[in-house]
Amino acid sequence: MGPSDEIARRVAQLLHHRKPALQQGDPVVPPIVASATHHLPHVQAGGQFYGRNGNPTWDAVEAQLSLLEDAEAVSFPSGMAAIAAALFATLKAGDRLVIPSDGYYVTRVLSDGFLKPLGIEVLAIPTADYATQDFTGAAVVYLETPSNPGLDVVDIAAVAGRAHKAGARVIADNTTMTPLLQRPLDLGCDLVVAADTKAPAGHSDVLFGHVAGRDATLMARVRGWRRMAGAIPGPFEAFLTHRGIETLELRLERMCASASVIAERLAAHPAVTGLRYPGLAGDPSHWAVGGQMANGGFLIGFQLADAGVAEGFLSRCPLIEQSTSFGGTHSAGERRARWGDAVPEGFIRLSVGVEPVAVLWDAINAALAG
Ligand SMILES: *Cc1c(COP(=O)(O)O)cnc(C)c1O
Repeated sequence: MGPSDEIARRVAQLLHHRKPALQQGDPVVPPIVASATHHLPHVQAGGQFYGRNGNPTWDAVEAQLSLLEDAEAVSFPSGMAAIAAALFATLKAGDRLVIPSDGYYVTRVLSDGFLKPLGIEVLAIPTADYATQDFTGAAVVYLETPSNPGLDVVDIAAVAGRAHKAGARVIADNTTMTPLLQRPLDLGCDLVVAADTKAPAGHSDVLFGHVAGRDATLMARVRGWRRMAGAIPGPFEAFLTHRGIETLELRLERMCASASVIAERLAAHPAVTGLRYPGLAGDPSHWAVGGQMANGGFLIGFQLADAGVAEGFLSRCPLIEQSTSFGGTHSAGERRARWGDAVPEGFIRLSVGVEPVAVLWDAINAALAG
């Protein structure tokens, strides 16, 4: 499924976002501005003055991200830097934070290790329980859908509505979908956080992140956190991310289309059990596809008999990189139990890349045969 007309317009616009400001002889591609200091004979409004406050190469990425999110976007040097900024900008001592027990594990480790000791109560619940959880007393409801790696989904608009009624703010980690496939801000979330390390940068060669939101006061706090904590992206990383985002829509189209083909074939394979792909009709998360999710995404979860069989498959398949992370041009897979995720030993998370799908399936099929 292609993007909606509005998203398509934004994708086209982001490819030309610099044009209105270009003067004769200016570079079309944003320069990597590596200067920590800027010419500053007077303190004056506007312009750059010091590299922790602003940088023209970040501005270029933030212009792209703002178009994609239809919101103010603040960039960070990693997804975790963005998540930390969103949490520290919204929480104070005595508050309760609700986070998924089956989501990105570093978010939980951050909450337990650094927020709890500051007097914030951290309540971790499975993503599937968000549908029925009472949010009374929560200051921040943090959600991740589909969850990583289980691919369970929650109804974002319903959770945001119930959380707001309880007086909580809502933060969504939208890394697995990107703003092209799922739009948490349109569904009522106050902030979106994402690891642009994954599909947006897309080439497994840079870490990057962002926070986006439509509440100017809240975004000013996020921006203030970046300036005061010093969690600033490097200009070279911003340049790489900018280049990656230019082809995000194109790559996602291939990756998601291929994932739906691969998921269907894997599901029919006798060696495979417990396959999860929201794009398949029988999947428990399928109800969200065509609604809050534009399609089933590019991540597939499935089980092989045990750890040994799964590791053998991954090492035999020449077109699956054995690495953590996802969303890159190369298909990548790993056994998640090795990190302690609550999944069976033979459970593999597969991130489908941009390889031609017929060749990719042949390689997967051959590796499954042993
Ligand atoms: C990777 C990831 C992050 C963290 O991003 P980094 O760039 O590695 O810091 C956060 N949330 C999710 C869902 C992720 O997959």
